[in-house]
This record gives sequence, C-alpha cells and structure tokens, in this order.
Amino acid sequence: MAERDVVLYPHSVLRKKCARIPAIDEELIRLARDMADTMYASAGIGLAAPQVGVPQQLIVLDIGDGLITLINPEIVIVEGTATMEEGCLCLPKLMVDVERYDAVQVKGTDLKGNPAAYDAEGLLARVFQHEIDHLSGTLIIDKLSKVKRDLLLKQLRKSRDKGQE
Ligand code: ZN
Repeated sequence: MAERDVVLYPHSVLRKKCARIPAIDEELIRLARDMADTMYASAGIGLAAPQVGVPQQLIVLDIGDGLITLINPEIVIVEGTATMEEGCLCLPKLMVDVERYDAVQVKGTDLKGNPAAYDAEGLLARVFQHEIDHLSGTLIIDKLSKVKRDLLLKQLRKSRDKGQE
C-alpha cells in the first residue's frame, strides 16, 4: 500500500490540462498502483492523476465491479443525459447535482499498452466523465451557475473553518 496525498481545491494542478502519456514505464505503473490504493483508502470510486498532483492523463475507477485503469482516456460516443448528485475528493463535503451523458464509450490504453474500450452507462459512465473532466482541469463546481458556485464555495469555506476549530 502506497497512498498519496489528495490535493485539495483550489490547488493549481487541478486546473491544468494534463499531458498525454507517451510511454508506459515503471514510474507510471507505480503511479497507477498508488492511485488505486489512494482511491480505496479514501472510499472513492474514481481518481485522476492530477488529484494526486500529477498532471498526466491517467485515471483509475472502481464502482464495485473491479478496478479499471486507463491511460489517455477519451470519450468517443455519448448517449442521453442524466442528472445525479456527485462529490469529489478534492472538494470535501461538497455535493452538487451534475448533468452528464447517461451512456458513453471510452477508449484508451491499459497498463500493458494494449488498446482498451469500455461501454459504460449509469454510474460507471458518470465516473468516467467525472475523471476525464479532471484531465482537462474541469471540476464539478464548473457545472454550476456562477451564483450557485459562489454560494457553494462559501459554504465549503465555512465548513472547512469549522473543521479546524
Ligand atoms: Zn473529482
């Protein structure tokens, strides 16, 4: 087990456009393993590399059906929309309604360097979209109107201050 620290909003790495990964090496495999450990230890169902401070296109997820690790993931087909409440490990205690595609096909590369594709719907489709959003610096708070976002961030600051008392 090698957990890494999850960076918290408003850390600047969360706003970076993450770099495509050109080659799989030991360091990348270690990163992927650490990310899975960190996700499970945080009781999360998905984690993107920038969330542990590494601006590279790597995601891990597990909604209870097993671990998926994907390099350079891309959404290639989308279908329908659905709205559901989401949280993010980088924005503790914040839950917001986010509208997303109901079904997506995602393509990328697995840790062995083989092409991988997933047809996902429901929660799995949602987690893929959430994590892939992280790779372009997009957070769940960006899905809200400015008024709602300001209000939520105010609440977030308040609850964080309370936690420190
Ligand atoms: Zn997140």
